[in-house]
Amino acid sequence: MIIKLVGGSKTVILEVNSVNPEAEKIRVAAKIIQEGGLVAFPTETVYGLGANALNSTTVLALFKTKNRPLDNPPILHIADTCQVYQLVQEVPKNAELLMKHFWPGPLTLIFKRSETIHKESVAGLDTVAIRMPNHNVALSLIKQSGTPIAAPSANLSGKPSPTTAQHVYDDLNGKIDVILDGGPTSIGVESTVLDLSVDPPLLLRPGGTTFENIKTVLPTVVLHSFVTSEQDVKVECARSPGMMHKHYAPNAEMLLVEGTVQAIISKITTLSEQYSGEGKKVGILATDETQKGYSAHVVKSMGSRFDLDMVAKELFKVLREFNENSVDVILAESVPLDGMGLAVMNRLRKASNYHIIKV
Ligand code: AMP
Ligand code: MG
Repeated sequence: MIIKLVGGSKTVILEVNSVNPEAEKIRVAAKIIQEGGLVAFPTETVYGLGANALNSTTVLALFKTKNRPLDNPPILHIADTCQVYQLVQEVPKNAELLMKHFWPGPLTLIFKRSETIHKESVAGLDTVAIRMPNHNVALSLIKQSGTPIAAPSANLSGKPSPTTAQHVYDDLNGKIDVILDGGPTSIGVESTVLDLSVDPPLLLRPGGTTFENIKTVLPTVVLHSFVTSEQDVKVECARSPGMMHKHYAPNAEMLLVEGTVQAIISKITTLSEQYSGEGKKVGILATDETQKGYSAHVVKSMGSRFDLDMVAKELFKVLREFNENSVDVILAESVPLDGMGLAVMNRLRKASNYHIIKV
């Protein structure tokens, strides 16, 4: 099979087998990376927008394409643990333990960076974020490219992260050459970010590897206060720059209602009637158990309250769907904070721009 990408303003979507990626398609994509281009590719968390991590010019182009603030460094993706040793000053013992347990997988580790990495690529920080994704398309692409790949989520900055090739296309068509389409991602929220350059180790962003699971391997780990924060924390954010920017926002204003399930239902029902009365189109982000009890312009479920893994998987897709229904306001339910619920609630709070109503 010979694949030729013809230059033009359109972005090409290349369907690729997610278990056994076709070698020719991976070669085409890897060549683009090597030549300084950008390739969107699936990982187990969300789709990434990849660039050669060792080429600072390309990494800067990546920021520009996404409209990403320059102070928010991307995660470097590797395909073999050996690559870590070239990118960092030292690999602490607890990092080796975590790598063994959780890689490949949705856990990003922060190390003190080596000189191999240009400071432009890490927003001037003296640290670097690294992970090995658990997805054969991502791993094959990194191996074939022969370089670590810097890859933030493949969306426009501020929008919900992409969990399908179509989401990437909707945001970046015409701005990148190719999207490798390996189907919907399995986890649906980004990786957990864990800082090992400080003591005790600090969880900076909840994600696909749960706090509870990390604690079983690394009992000293603690949550940074903004992981569970109920307000926009602007102070002392240098440690995890990404946390201070607008994120995951649907087009409509969103209100997040937090409390017991009964109190949430009752508050959302009242608010829905109030907004509808004002002539607004209301969207409700409900759960399987509560969905049928509401009436509004559009009611969507993010999944069952008893399956927060599934809620994480559906969340960004459902947030994007509200844009298609062009609602004026979204009233969202909260979910429990256990397991994947911590990552889901962090995304919901940010998506609502911390417009939280406690009931
Ligand atoms: P994204 O690639 O959009 O999923 O976001 C990457 C996340 O990793 C952001 O929250 C960044 O702030 C965080 N990150 C990347 N590099 C570093 C670093 N060196 N130190 C702390 N956080 C980082
Ligand atoms: Mg992102």
